Parts: sequence; structure tokens; C-alpha cells
Amino acid sequence: MDPVVPLPAAAPVRTRSGHYSFWRLLREGLRGQRGWRPAWVKAAPRPRYKVVIVGGGGHGLATAYYLAREFGITDVAVLEKGPIGLGNVGRNTTIVRSNYFQPPNIRFYEYSLRLWESFEQQLNFNAMVSQRGTLNLFHTEAQRDLFTRRANQMRLLGVDAEPVTREGVRALVPLVDLDNGRYPVLGGFLQPRGGTVRHDAVAWGYARGASERGVDIIEQCEVTGLRRADGRITGVETARGFIGADTVCLAVAGFSSRLAAMADVRLPIETHVLQAWVSEAIKPVLDVVLTYGAGHFYVSQSDKGGLVFGGAIDGYNTYAQRGTLPMAEEVAAAAVTLLPGLARLQVLRQWGGIMDMSMDGSPIISRTPVAGLVLNGGWCYGGFKAIPAGGMTTAHLIATGNPHPLAAHLGLERFAAGRTLDERGVGPFPYAH
Ligand SMILES: Cc1cc2nc3c(=O)[nH]c(=O)nc-3n(C[C@H](O)[C@H](O)[C@H](O)COP(=O)(O)OP(=O)(O)OC[C@H]3O[C@@H](n4cnc5c(N)ncnc54)[C@H](O)[C@@H]3O)c2cc1C
Repeated sequence: MDPVVPLPAAAPVRTRSGHYSFWRLLREGLRGQRGWRPAWVKAAPRPRYKVVIVGGGGHGLATAYYLAREFGITDVAVLEKGPIGLGNVGRNTTIVRSNYFQPPNIRFYEYSLRLWESFEQQLNFNAMVSQRGTLNLFHTEAQRDLFTRRANQMRLLGVDAEPVTREGVRALVPLVDLDNGRYPVLGGFLQPRGGTVRHDAVAWGYARGASERGVDIIEQCEVTGLRRADGRITGVETARGFIGADTVCLAVAGFSSRLAAMADVRLPIETHVLQAWVSEAIKPVLDVVLTYGAGHFYVSQSDKGGLVFGGAIDGYNTYAQRGTLPMAEEVAAAAVTLLPGLARLQVLRQWGGIMDMSMDGSPIISRTPVAGLVLNGGWCYGGFKAIPAGGMTTAHLIATGNPHPLAAHLGLERFAAGRTLDERGVGPFPYAH
């Protein structure tokens, strides 16, 4: 069975910033680069829109793009408190994959992966989509069973998942110390179609695509309040004045609880910080995305040569985009356990992003108790890969009033009804997801 709902073909758009191509590069090179125009218009707010999307991150911009492209709804504003792309969409470690456990989540993330596969052609934007494979290592027989079960679920749904022997791991990643003293590697599972996508190009590509279709992208426009009348949303208070709207969509990731509270909606979301690191550039040593199953550590190598790596969220609730030292120590320990050759590598940069951790580890794409107020959030620390599907299904919900079939399980009501989708089987503890 094909789990993916196919995309309808869209009408081509004449782009204001022009079609990007080899010939365009050549032409601009020959005439002093004078023909380029900004990729998106820096719009000023109008008094009223049909749809206002709060948050110019990946999900907000993708929702605006698909509203315009798939549903012809262009009376849309995306309001971003800073410049677009400086939230988590530009802070993540760029991994895309669909190796989830719960079948509805596998279908949703697989849909996203398929949208990534056509992303660059559809948006005419180079996002460096690199399907280099994601390799998850296992270290105990119990973990082998668990991973086998997950791979079987995926394969039953037509999604790629391949077992890899110890020798196979050695061949794929010679740097791995298979017999490391802490947790020897028994094998792994590879999703060959997983990989990486350049994160900030995703924000720029969607911003360009939405702007070309008439969406207003309004930067430096913080939303400070949500105005309601008779149980229905009527607009947003912003740093640049009131903006009326029939529908308001919150796509603010780590700020979801704070924004929803402005409409007296309490969300099953906690905010935590997640850190990442990048090393100095070295020659190519790693051509898959690698994750360590005995701790939380994952790593890939960027095209510039730096190793990009991260671990689990910090245990503390915070809105600070920094992170604390204990997690840095834990990640470094896991890194040198698995890949001792990294021990003398210099770290160039470290940063943090604030995560909207849901109670069951699954996202939320949903109506809310306030009519006209829609939520896209609860991405935990896996929402980058979900951007195309999150945008498409949120646009569907806004345009039709009904959940998209692939996101019908992601409604807020599941928490009250006890139908949570515990992706990792760890219970209602956001920090554990
Ligand atoms: C270190 C790190 C590594 C990660 N690695 C991965 C990974 O490898 N793969 C993966 O799938 N996911 C990963 N993630 C998670 C992923 O980045 C997020 O889940 C996803 O980007 C969240 O969606 P977004 O892009 O819409 O969020 P954001 O980019 O954070 O967008 C939300 C926007 O809302 C804006 N905003 C907030 N409040 C207001 C307001 N009041 N008014 C106006 N605007 C407002 C913010 O400024 C922000 O720009 C990682 C995250 C981090 C931090």
C-alpha cells in the first residue's frame, strides 16, 4: 500500500525574482550581477488578512506557501518577530528521515520525505537535499528486537529500512569503534533515503515561493496579543499595530505555550533547550548520518567538512537559546566512545534552540477551543524533517476546515480523550521524548 497522498500538479507561477538556472547564473555573471532581485518582498502589514500565520520559521512559511500553491489562498500574512529563519529552522542539525515507530507517524514523516525529494524542483531553489542515508546503531539484543520491529513497521508501509551487520557498519563508517568499552556495536538499521537538507535554504525557499504567490512576509512584527470576540479569533495585536484575520495559525515552535496562553488556551507542551555543535572542517570521513543507540548522540558531516552533532535536550525548562555544560559533556563522552578518532577535533561553534516538547512525542496540527485559531506545534526536536508535511497539512486544515488524512491523528483532542500517540513509549514526560 502506498501510504502517501499524491500531490496535485500546480500551475506554474511567473516569478518576480526570476527563474534560477545555470543560464541565469551565466547571464548575471556576464553583466555584473545587476539583474538579481530580492527573493521575497519585505512587506508592510495591511489592516486585515484572511489568514495570519504567526511565526516565520519552517512550518509557518511552508503553511503560507502551500495555502497559496495548493489552495489558491493568497490573502495571507506571515508575521515574524525577528528576521525569518533565525528560529529553529536555522538552528537544527538538518536531518531528514521517516524512520518512526507509530504507523500514523511513519506515514506522516514519509509524506514529508517524499515532499523533500521534489522540494528543489518544485521551489526552484537549491536546498542541498542530500539523501546520504541515516544509520541507527544498536548495542543490545533487546535493542535489535526493537529496531527490527520498527523496520518491519516501516517496510509494511512501503518505507525503506535495511538491516546492517557489524561488518556492514564497519564498511559504511570505518571510524566507528565497534568494540568500544562502553557499548559494543552489534549492528544497525539504515534508511537509505534519509539524509540532510540545508536548513536556512528551506526558510528562504518557502519564503520566496510564498512571496511570489502574493503572501505578505512581515519581519520585525512580534505578536503581543490575540484578540477574540464571542469565542472566535478576530486578529492579532502586534508591535506594528492590530491586524485583523478570519483565521490565525500559531506556528511558533518553542513559543507555542506562550502564544496560546494569550487566548487562554493551555497546551500539553513544555519548552526545553536543545543544543548542537559543529567542528572544524576536516576531509570527508562520514558519508551517512550516524546515531548512537546507547546514548543520545548523532553526527553528520557538512559539505564544508565540519562534523555537525548533537544529543538530547537539556533537562531544564527554559526559553534561553544557549544550553548547559552537563549536556555538552554527555554528548562529548558519547562522541568519543563511538568515534575515538574525534577526540582531538576542535569544536568551532555551539548553539541552542528552544523546543516545543509535547506530552507524547508526537506533533500537534489542530483546531483549538477558540474558533478560527489553529495550532501547528509540538514538534519536539524532530520538526525540521516535518516541515513540508507540516506546512501542507496545516494549510489543508486552514483551507478546508478539516484535518488532512495524514494528520488526522495529530489533533489536540487526543490528549483529553486518552488517544495519545506515544512515539517512543516513554509515557507523558516531555523531557523523555
Ligand atoms: C539544535 C537543534 C537541532 C535540531 N535538529 C533537528 C534535526 O536534525 N532534524 C529535525 O527534523 N529537527 C531538528 N530540530 C527541530 C526543528 O528544528 C524544529 O522542530 C522545527 O524547526 C520547528 O519548527 P519551525 O521551523 O517552524 O520553528 P522556528 O524556526 O523556531 O519558527 C518559529 C518562529 O516563530 C517566531 N515567533 C515566536 N514568537 C513569536 C511572536 N510572538 N510573534 C512573531 N513571531 C514569533 C520565532 O521567532 C521563530 O522564527 C532541531 C532543533 C534544534 C534546536
